[in-house]
Amino acid sequence: MFAVFAGLCGAQDARLDRLMKDILIFDAHIDTPRYFLDEGYRLADRHAYYELDLPRMREGHMGAVLFGIYAQPQDFGPRQFLPRALEVLDALRIEVGRNGKDMEFAHTSDDVTRIHKAGKIAALASLEGGHLIGDSARILRDFERLGVRYMTLAHFKNNVFADSMTDTAVHGGLSARGKELVREMNRMGVMVDVSHISDKAVFDAVDASTSPVIASHSSVKAIAPIPRNMPDDVIRAVARKGGVICINFHAGYLNKPAYEVYIRNRPKRDEEIKAAGTDWEKIRRIQRRYYDYMPPVQVKELLRHIDYVAKLVGSGHVGLGSDFDGVSGMVPVGMEDVSKYPVLVKGLMEMGYGDEDIRNIMGGNLVRVMRENERRAQ
Ligand SMILES: [Zn+2]
Repeated sequence: MFAVFAGLCGAQDARLDRLMKDILIFDAHIDTPRYFLDEGYRLADRHAYYELDLPRMREGHMGAVLFGIYAQPQDFGPRQFLPRALEVLDALRIEVGRNGKDMEFAHTSDDVTRIHKAGKIAALASLEGGHLIGDSARILRDFERLGVRYMTLAHFKNNVFADSMTDTAVHGGLSARGKELVREMNRMGVMVDVSHISDKAVFDAVDASTSPVIASHSSVKAIAPIPRNMPDDVIRAVARKGGVICINFHAGYLNKPAYEVYIRNRPKRDEEIKAAGTDWEKIRRIQRRYYDYMPPVQVKELLRHIDYVAKLVGSGHVGLGSDFDGVSGMVPVGMEDVSKYPVLVKGLMEMGYGDEDIRNIMGGNLVRVMRENERRAQ
C-alpha cells in the first residue's frame, strides 16, 4: 500500500518536473518598475522585501511579465502623469537592459515565445489608466512604439474615457471618446484592459472592441464581494469576446474578511505612509504591521478564484495577474512572491487539471489574446 502511494507521488513529481521544464509562466500585472526609479531597486540582487527580482523569478520559473506603469492622482498632479509614465517606462527599459543576460524587452507574442525558448525572461510594459496619455490616442501610439502592450482604461478614478469601479459614475460606462479610444487601440494592437473600470464600462468596452480584451488583475466577486472584483456576467462578457481574466493575488481581493480589515485600517495606514515621506524602509515596516492585522489568506483561496473562472467560462479564459509589488505586501500565505508560481502548477494538478489547461492558465491564454490583438491590428 505504502509502495503504491509512494509510486503515485513519484508519478506526480515527475509530471510536475516535466511541466516546469518548459511551461511559459506569464504574469499580466506586476508593479515593480517605480521602485527602479524611486529607490534604485535592482533586479539582479535578491531581496527580502518586495515581490520580484531576478533570483526569485528564476526560482519561480517565470517566463514573461507585463510590468505596470502607473501614477496615482493622490501621489501626482495631472501635469505629472505623462512625464512620470515616460520616466518609469525609461527606468524599466534601462533595468531590463542592465540584465540582458537574463532578460529581454518584448514587443510581440512571438518575442515572448522566442525569448522564453532561449531561456530568458521576457519583459513587457503596460499603462495603468487612460489619464497617463494626456487624453490623447496619438500619445498612446507613441507609447505603443516604446513597447506598451496594454492599457487599463481607468485606474482608481474616472477619466475622460471611462468610469472607474471605485469612483462615482459620470459617463455611465465609457464616454464616446472612450469607445473611440478602444477602436484606436484595436488598430494599434494594444490590448484593452478592463480591470478597475465599472461593470457598465466593461460591457461598453467589450461591445466597442473588435479584438479580445483582458482583465489584467481582477478576481471573482461571487467568492469575495468587494468593489474591485468582477461579477459573473462581466466575466462571461470578457470570455465571450475571447478574452482572459487574470486573477489578482491581493489577499484582500481574495477574501472579504481580510478586505474589511484592510479597508478599515487604510486611512490610518496611508496617513503614516505619507508622514514617512521617502523613507522606504519605514514605509515597508508600516505596510508589514498593517498586513499582520489582516486574517491570513491561504494560497488555496487564490486557486479557488482561478478554478471558479475556469468552471464558469472555461480554462481558456483565466490567467495570472498577481499585482505583485502593487499590493503593499498583502500577499497570500504560500504565494509571497514570484518564486512561488510552481505552487499554483502543483495546486492545479491536484485539482485535476490536465497539462494543456495548466499551460493555458499559467500563460498560454495571455499569449493567445496578445497574438489575436496583433493579428487584428491595422
Ligand atoms: Zn491596479
